[in-house]
Amino acid sequence: MYYSPIKMKELLSKHGFNLKKMFGQNFIIDENIINNIINVSNIDKDTLVIEIGPGAGSLTYKLSEYSKNVVCYEIDETLKEVLKETLKEKENVEIIYKDFLKASVLDDLKKYEYKKLYVVANLPYYVTTPIIVKIIEDNINVDKMVVMVQKEVGDRFKASPGSKDYGSLSVFLNYYFDVKKVLDISKNVFIPKPNVDSIVVEFSKKQNLKELKNKELFFKLIRDSFKQKRKTLRNNLKGYNLDKIEEILLKYNYDLSVRAEQLNIDIFIEIANNL
Ligand code: SAM
Repeated sequence: MYYSPIKMKELLSKHGFNLKKMFGQNFIIDENIINNIINVSNIDKDTLVIEIGPGAGSLTYKLSEYSKNVVCYEIDETLKEVLKETLKEKENVEIIYKDFLKASVLDDLKKYEYKKLYVVANLPYYVTTPIIVKIIEDNINVDKMVVMVQKEVGDRFKASPGSKDYGSLSVFLNYYFDVKKVLDISKNVFIPKPNVDSIVVEFSKKQNLKELKNKELFFKLIRDSFKQKRKTLRNNLKGYNLDKIEEILLKYNYDLSVRAEQLNIDIFIEIANNL
């Protein structure tokens, strides 16, 4: 493979390929990082892996060795010749040249048999959150996601109540997954070198999801609660049954002067289930 800056540049220029900032193209050029991602992912020959953005195929190549199949989505068709070269012996890899955000992923996966479904990817930074949200909203039902993201975005994904990064997205993700950081990544392992460091975050599907009487109401409640982060629930939730909400908050030694950022997911679930 092409795990050195010189070899990667040679490969790309041989095919007349220019890296595009607009697609968040920062390609990994360090084999150790790829091995580390593979190790923490724990994929095996029962696993179907979805990779969003194979780029030049550095991660894809190793994913294909350890998994049953790899289905990749790549928005940039000008990578075709590059990927033909780097993945030429890899028969268990399918590359779908499409914007992942517009893809019908469940249809694309129908022809595959697998026991576990993972997403493993170095995500394009400009659409990281929409990609994660799509995976959940489309009910793709992944068992695990191991994704490289910009550090500040990853901090929001895994934030706990009370921390500055905790927001509606953290609560939304924490409903479905246990989220933790598994690797720190220096900006020196990419070409071109990005401005910020990255982390690899692991999302593991929660085994027993807490029951929600009305999912839409729950997610609306969370969005509204965090609408103005510095405001209290009394201010953010004006149209709701505030007496009922306060009754629940009091059980946890809070009242309506609390801010959403202090409340854990179980309190939100209890409020939503009682509205
Ligand atoms: N996996 C490669 C690596 O680690 O070297 C490339 C990672 S690069 C950060 C992100 C990749 O996602 C690029 O190949 C880019 O073209 C692709 N991409 C960007 N937006 C996309 C989208 N909406 N759907 C699918 N692929 C996308």
